Amino acid sequence: MRKIPLFEKELDRTCIQELSDSWGDNRFFMKRDDSIPFSFGGNKARKAAEFYREIRQTDTDVIMTYGSNSSNHCRIIANMAAAMGLDCHIISPEENRTMLNNTRLVQAFGAVIETCPVTCVAETIERRKEIYTQQGRHPYFIAGGGHGNPGTEGYVKAYQETAAYEQENDIYFDYIFHASGTGATQAGLVCGSLLAGDRNRRIVGISIAREEERGRNVVKDSIREYLGSRFEKLYTEDALIFTDAFRCGGYGSYTAEVEETISRVMHREGIPMDTTYVGKAFHGMLGFVRENRIRDQRILFIHTGGCPLFFDKLTKQ
Ligand SMILES: *Cc1c(COP(=O)(O)O)cnc(C)c1O
Repeated sequence: MRKIPLFEKELDRTCIQELSDSWGDNRFFMKRDDSIPFSFGGNKARKAAEFYREIRQTDTDVIMTYGSNSSNHCRIIANMAAAMGLDCHIISPEENRTMLNNTRLVQAFGAVIETCPVTCVAETIERRKEIYTQQGRHPYFIAGGGHGNPGTEGYVKAYQETAAYEQENDIYFDYIFHASGTGATQAGLVCGSLLAGDRNRRIVGISIAREEERGRNVVKDSIREYLGSRFEKLYTEDALIFTDAFRCGGYGSYTAEVEETISRVMHREGIPMDTTYVGKAFHGMLGFVRENRIRDQRILFIHTGGCPLFFDKLTKQ
């Protein structure tokens, strides 16, 4: 398998920039994980760098994953496999979506896309793994969204990068907001803060799909899995803030107000955001700040990527 030099060492710290004073009575900053320099960046690139290091220690010859073939995750994994000279096999739920930029890229990277009914996902993955193994191949399976300890690890590091920035710039972020989906991003940030013993900061996951109970439990399970025996000592319920108040009905749905916010951010800051994750979460953050009458605080928003989705929207007829 070939090397990806960028992933051989730790990623460079992503930029944190202050935003304009357009967003109310707080100072807003943004951490630009969308600028991670691999395949249009984003949190899936940060997670993939961690999976890369694991895969390099194995004799993997085919990378398998699960996800919609229009997802950022599948784009990054298909690109990583292509760069490493490995085969890529994606199991996708049957769905009737239009062709999106991510779908085109996944196909261009030569990934095999196998669709199955949403109800048969687990069996389909197991069966496919067995078939590869029987053929003498060595599949490595990455859970949907880059879920699992390596994915969480990526965001423990993002937390440490943030803490280092604070030290150097003599600032403290009272809040960190981000789009929360399958939960590894939030699990990593929360683990980072628990391990650092920092109890004053609030890390708020804005759900882009899941209802509160399920979403919270999944994040909590990931935290438990990552911390292992340290969980009981370190974890408290107040460390995990996950809100479903801004999910606009579920995955992929958004309102005209979300679109307006996206347009304002692009005009005022020059920063593109998509409607499924980042724009929806940024809009949700403004709502959360307003509803909780938060003022005079320093607030960090993490831009988790999704650049190809921005262009899907821009070119939609
Ligand atoms: C997947 C994704 C998220 C959600 O991250 P999780 O770790 O799954 O919670 C947020 N933003 C973008 C752009 C994503 O692609």
